[in-house]
Order: sequence, then structure tokens, then C-alpha cells
Amino acid sequence: MNGIKSIRDLTVEGKRVWVRVDFNVPLDSHGNIADNTRIRAALPTINYLVEHGAKVVLASHLGRPKGKCDKRYTLKLVAKELATLCNQPVLFLDHCVGEDINQSIAEMANGSITLLENLRFMPQEEANDSEFSKQLAEQADIYVNDAFGTAHRAHASTAGIAAFVRQKAMGFLIEKELEFLTQKIDNPERPFCVVLGGAKISDKIGIVEALSKKADTVLLGGGMSFTFAAAQGQAIGNSLLDPDYVELAKNLLKNHKNIQLPVDSVATDRIDFKTGTLGALQVVDGPIPDGWFGVDIGPKTIALYSDIIRKSKMVLWNGPVGIFEISETAKGGYALAQALSECNGTTIVGGGDCIEAVRKSGYANSITFLSTGGGATLQLLEGKPLPGLEALKQ
Ligand code: AMP
Repeated sequence: MNGIKSIRDLTVEGKRVWVRVDFNVPLDSHGNIADNTRIRAALPTINYLVEHGAKVVLASHLGRPKGKCDKRYTLKLVAKELATLCNQPVLFLDHCVGEDINQSIAEMANGSITLLENLRFMPQEEANDSEFSKQLAEQADIYVNDAFGTAHRAHASTAGIAAFVRQKAMGFLIEKELEFLTQKIDNPERPFCVVLGGAKISDKIGIVEALSKKADTVLLGGGMSFTFAAAQGQAIGNSLLDPDYVELAKNLLKNHKNIQLPVDSVATDRIDFKTGTLGALQVVDGPIPDGWFGVDIGPKTIALYSDIIRKSKMVLWNGPVGIFEISETAKGGYALAQALSECNGTTIVGGGDCIEAVRKSGYANSITFLSTGGGATLQLLEGKPLPGLEALKQ
């Protein structure tokens, strides 16, 4: 796929298969794993390699130890959790490079698993240092990247190492992300509808541009839609506005008639993000009065967007259409999640906030694919190359 091999294409038996996984799990206030989703997401690749007799060497980062050995971010607990999930021992090595590490890996039995200590304890990891990349490569006969969440970063373990290992491939997690975020989107089932929301227009405008060329309809919502509304000359009160992007938004609206803006909004006269409280709320059909902020899509927009979503053969949704963290302004997102659940086509939801909004709505199980990446998902949707994927090309 895209000039990148799958692990299915390689003979892995008896080989040291070095896998960059994303075990950057959230920790609770006691330093315990709060959610093991990321570990579970790597299991298909790990189990496949174990079943095919590889010596599986796993490496990841956890948190932001800033290039220092900070034991709050040790992967030791992850090794324990992984052993439980895989139902087999996982050897944990308390650093990630050196002669002793190479020796331990050389002694591994086929089908066994070793996890290295946090790569970001070494400053060379994020610096993509080539000497460090070479040291990591000494541990590998085959390099596999399955850390989609960090594929947009050019670090030693996500990019640099690939230059020093002859055989390389993507894991199943990345393969699935590419299937849904590139293959399906480049050859969509039609009608293909895209829903884009969120606050930061700087992150999303490139995606609006790229996807308005591929989709039949692009439905905008969330804070960033107000910059588009302003570009159309609408009064938006005190809603989010990024003046630097008004001209670009105007051009996009002129050149892509398939971009649809909300036809009404829910607005408030006071918002306190710290306490999650709002002042008065009202549905606004036209101009938003001064002193009022648009915080969610309104009922007419919900009806219009839901109808388009239900009739689509493929839907992609990235970015919340309202301030979903507050229950009164999460309603637009919940309604769209329900519409996605009622759509008979392929439904794809991407981005941490959006996935959380869909989970809260209770409809997550009926979505065809939930993309796990943040920045990596955005970059792929924008059609930009990801260093972690480019490095895997033969
Ligand atoms: P992003 O990281 O750009 O995808 O933005 C996600 C954030 O957008 C979430 O925290 C939402 O609360 C926020 N958001 C959604 N709609 C609005 C809005 N109308 N005004 C301000 N923030 C919003």
C-alpha cells in the first residue's frame, strides 16, 4: 500500500523484529495506567509477530520526560499490563540502547517479547540523532512502525532508524489508518460528506481545502466556522474569529460551492471554561449580537446536516461542532453522532476530541472506523507526507 510493505509481506520467523509502538498511555494521579486503549491497539501486530515466531522488540515513548531519565514516565508498568493482555511474559529492559541491551535481544527466543525503556529518556530520540538511530538499528533485522500517533514526527525511532535497517514495514494499526484515511477517501463511495469542526482554523483550513475537492459536501461547524461566516460578511458577535484566515476562507467559499456553513447557532452571553458554566443561551438564526458567542450548531443546522449525513454512502467527521465539554453545548455533536449511527454507509471519525464527543454520545460502537491520531490524522487528511510513513517506503 502506498509503496509501503505490510508485515504480512515479510518472513519474520526467527528475526529480531523491532516495532515502534505508541504506548503513550494516560496516567492517573498515582502514576497508574488510566486507560490501556493504546496498548490494546498494538495487540494485533504484536500477536501476529509472536504467532509467526518473531523475536518481538517493542519501543515507545511515554509522556514528556524531556530527554532525561524521569522514572514517573517509565514503561515498566506498561510491560506488566502488556504481559496480562498478551497472556505471556514480557521482558522489560531498563534502558533502550547499549551492548547489554543488544546482548539481551540476541538471546531472545522465537515468539518472545521484550519492551525497551522510554525512548524519550534520551535527548537523541526527538533530535532524530543519526548515531542513536544506528544504535537502535543494531537491535533489528526488521523495522516495523505501528505508532500512527507519532508518524507525523521525524524522530530517531519513527524516521531515522529506517535508513539503517534493510527490511521495513508498517504494522496493522497504521495499515488500517491508511486504508480509511487515504485509500477510502481518495476513492470515496458517493455521496461522500465531510463534517469539520474544532476551534483552531489554522489546523483545519488546509483540510477544508483538500477535502472540498474530494467530497460532495463539506459541512462546517465549531468555532472555526465563524471565521468562514465572517468571510461571508455575517455578524458573528464575540464568537471565535481568526482575522488572519478571513481572506483564505473567502476564497475557499468562492471556489468550492460544496462548502456548507451552519444556518443557525446556539449562542451564550457568558462562558467560563474553568468552571464549565454558561450564561443565558439562545438560538440565533441570523446575525449573532455583540457580546454573544456561538457555542454550538442550532436545531435547523442539526436537521439539515443530519439529513445529508443519513443519505451519504461515506461520512468523515473531524473536530467537534460545539463546546462538547459542557453538556448544554454538546447537543449538536450528539445529534450528528446519532445521524452517523443511522447512516448505512462507511463512517469515519478522527481526532481525540471528536472521538471523545462520539463516545460520550453513546454511538461510538456504530462508527465504522475511529482514527487514533491527532496531528498525524490531520496531516494525512490534508494530503501532507508523514515522516514516519515516508521512512517506510522501499
Ligand atoms: P480543535 O483542537 O481545533 O479540534 O478544537 C477542539 C475544541 O474546539 C474543543 O475543545 C471544543 O470545545 C472547541 N469548540 C468547538 N466549538 C466551539 C465554539 N463554537 N467556540 C469555541 N470553541 C469551540
